[in-house]
Amino acid sequence: MKQLVLASGNPGKLRELSAILDELGYQLHAQSEFGVDEVAETGTTFVENAIIKARHAATITGLPALADDSGIEVDALDGAPGVYSARFAGANADDAANNALLVDKLRNVPPAERSARYRAVIVLMRHAADPSPLICEGSWEGMIQLDPAGDGGFGYDPYFFLPDLGCTSAQLSASEKNRLSHRGAALQELKRKLKEQDV
Ligand code: IMP
Repeated sequence: MKQLVLASGNPGKLRELSAILDELGYQLHAQSEFGVDEVAETGTTFVENAIIKARHAATITGLPALADDSGIEVDALDGAPGVYSARFAGANADDAANNALLVDKLRNVPPAERSARYRAVIVLMRHAADPSPLICEGSWEGMIQLDPAGDGGFGYDPYFFLPDLGCTSAQLSASEKNRLSHRGAALQELKRKLKEQDV
């Protein structure tokens, strides 16, 4: 089996990606198995941050590396919180603090102008100096509502309203969310690309 390292310390991501990669003949390792520490996400785009993380893991392990980055863009806030989604309300902010800040910033924005989208990028670097990483992207359109609804998902989900479905992403089952989400779309693209070419 071909070996890949995942540039993340998140066990949920490792499980989700392992399931897909296993059937394609790849064995995915957590970067912690090799003692890889977290690297600062200094990029200003999702792609840059994913590449920074993948390059760091590939440099230290010598293995091809996968990394992802995701977040939410709100049009009325010029795309914020964007790459800062996890730390919108500060370096150690939790979901509640980030959501409170988002609601606060949108309080005076009319509902019809609260369009937003989740974005996910997954990058695969064949080696640390790879000049053309595999880049897979997904997005998911919605609107921000000011009152939370639903207790599924995580992060901004209770405020991410899906007009076509008439509910928030926190009101979907995990499998519905995977089928529709930005991350699900990026994963499907990764699967397609890995089937087309050997890494
Ligand atoms: P990261 O990709 O692990 O750095 O996470 C980025 C941040 O974006 C998360 O901490 C959440 O705040 C937000 N985010 C990304 N995807 C989702 C999602 O599917 N639901 C809710 N929040 C999300």
